[in-house]
Amino acid sequence: MEVGDNGTDIQKAKQTLQDKNNQRYMRAALDMAEQALASDEVPVGCVFVREGKIIGKGMNDTNRSLNGTRHAELIAINSILGEYQSSVLHETDLYVTVEPCIMCASALRQYQIRAVYFGCSNDRFGGTGGVLSVHSDPGVDQPFPVYGGLFREEAIMLLRRFYVQENGKAPEPKPKRDRQLNTEILPLIN
Ligand SMILES: [Zn+2]
Repeated sequence: MEVGDNGTDIQKAKQTLQDKNNQRYMRAALDMAEQALASDEVPVGCVFVREGKIIGKGMNDTNRSLNGTRHAELIAINSILGEYQSSVLHETDLYVTVEPCIMCASALRQYQIRAVYFGCSNDRFGGTGGVLSVHSDPGVDQPFPVYGGLFREEAIMLLRRFYVQENGKAPEPKPKRDRQLNTEILPLIN
């Protein structure tokens, strides 16, 4: 087994990125993030998939609601729990464009999500390796596996488009050269 710096199984990571179903579901999550961007929300979107079917989706909604817990994952979980027993989450995978934050990672672990696939890392609030490792630290609830890097570039570009868009709305806009879209993204796997 080829192992990366942080202990990830590189072979498994490559397979995950190339899997057609994984790509399809992450595309659906990116569509949700696009909707968030169009609503002036930090563009994060997700879908929950059980037995090949999307059973819940969500997009970030913290600005409109003025509620910092209205993250894409929690919105989707809320809608799933309106329709299903919470035990369905044991056989459900989450596809989310940005690594779940510490709050969401904790909820996902308590609900015993089967696996999490994410696009780009969350260096400020990440709960599945970005800052803390809520998914795998010793604890009462069963740990869950995470696979990062699926359409990572697309997820990052959505976030950059959001910050360029927001800067453009500031009362005294910064000089234009600071607002140009940076399109350079370093590769995750060499
Ligand atoms: Zn969150």
